[in-house]
Amino acid sequence: MTELGDASRSVLDRLRTYRAADAPTHGGRVLSYVYDSGSAELDELAAQAIRIMQPVNGLDPTTFGSVAAIERDLVGFARDLLGGAEEVVGSVTTGGTESCLLAVKTARDLWRAGGGEGTPRLVAPSTVHAAFFKAAAYFGLELDLVPVPASGAVDAGALLVRLGPDVALAVVSAPSYPFASLDPVAEVAAGCVEAGIPLHVDACIGGLVLPFADSLPAWDLRVPGVTSLSVDLHKYGYAPKGASVLLHRGRERLHAQYFATTRWPGYPVVNPTLLGSRSAGPAAAAWAIVQALGVDGLGDLAVRTLAATAALREAVDAIEGLRVVGEPVGPLFAVAADEGVEADARVDPHHWADAIRGLGWQLQLQPGLVQADGSRLPHTTHLTVTPVTEQVLPELTRAMVQAADEVRGLPPVTAAEAISALGGDVTAVLAGPLPERLAPLLALVEGLPPEYTERLLVRLLAGIVEPV
Ligand SMILES: *Cc1c(COP(=O)(O)O)cnc(C)c1O
Repeated sequence: MTELGDASRSVLDRLRTYRAADAPTHGGRVLSYVYDSGSAELDELAAQAIRIMQPVNGLDPTTFGSVAAIERDLVGFARDLLGGAEEVVGSVTTGGTESCLLAVKTARDLWRAGGGEGTPRLVAPSTVHAAFFKAAAYFGLELDLVPVPASGAVDAGALLVRLGPDVALAVVSAPSYPFASLDPVAEVAAGCVEAGIPLHVDACIGGLVLPFADSLPAWDLRVPGVTSLSVDLHKYGYAPKGASVLLHRGRERLHAQYFATTRWPGYPVVNPTLLGSRSAGPAAAAWAIVQALGVDGLGDLAVRTLAATAALREAVDAIEGLRVVGEPVGPLFAVAADEGVEADARVDPHHWADAIRGLGWQLQLQPGLVQADGSRLPHTTHLTVTPVTEQVLPELTRAMVQAADEVRGLPPVTAAEAISALGGDVTAVLAGPLPERLAPLLALVEGLPPEYTERLLVRLLAGIVEPV
């Protein structure tokens, strides 16, 4: 190792230089992507757990019994917290997207096994996470989106009328990512039971917080008819990225999730998840955190996060020209322009987000959307609140007020303005550095045909990682 001494130092220095350009992962200044428990001790615990598991291959829990033990404990923990009885089983995946993909793949395979032929449908509210768009695309389902009212929560009846023999799975969120809307899980589940159609509850973001919130209608595995549920450990389980749990009601569903083949000259492949060889580190880190915190520790962090969320919502309510969208549930919410006041008193949420960014805070801009029935969901700015947020509440609130004052009355950017700012050529975004202000970029996303914007964004993102 000695001969590596200088090289190690210098490569790690380079890595630190790369990292220095990142958005800050700690300190509460980025209100999406990162879930900061605010505890350096928990971060260190996770790091040590990863270190211990570093050489292990999560591919084979028979060779590496530690992987089986960790998964057993994590699935058991999630099942108990989320109201699952003995018939609930599941597996640990690498993230929310993988959990959602596998819920869809499982449902598709069971639908086919039950005699389904042709293209199955996946029925979900317009607010469902994009992971289900990906799942439909990957696994050959037609995504049938149910428009939602202004509250963001789907109307159960509007979803249930779409059920039919070609529906392989219905999905609802607890809560949704864009607006933190809690879909009517029990009503939808009752209709699904009647129709004999499985129902997935996407609790990726809410699953470890909602159990500690007051007076919510039932939304988890206590509801009969919920056949699978996803919950992310790398969100409000504070684990490093790469850990989520997918629970199924009934072993038959879990078995349908697996891929197995003995028809090649190599080792028998029996995989519950998409990857083959995989890291056991993030799952081990999640395990360590869950073991150390227990339900009480997680609950304490959740309650503090919910209190910080309530304080921020109140702050938004007090800002003229802004409003909180719908009736958000859990540690997140979206902010829209208040159409109830005169245009010159309104605050465009994207200009607001750009102004806050100038003050050192990163909120997430979300485009507006015209739904299938022609109704419009407004463009918004999203805040995901974490335990660390309580430490920065006064500062953040001040920034929110100041940013609103800076941009009040400024009309939203139109797609036409955004295009002319690019000299009339949208592809100019590919040439320059990423724009300082995001409002014009979001205006393009909202205003141009999605097929076009999606291709453009692919070129932009692929370009970023091209070797020079
Ligand atoms: C985060 C999230 C997902 C996807 O999870 P990733 O971990 O980012 O892959 C799915 N559904 C909801 C509601 C989420 O918030």
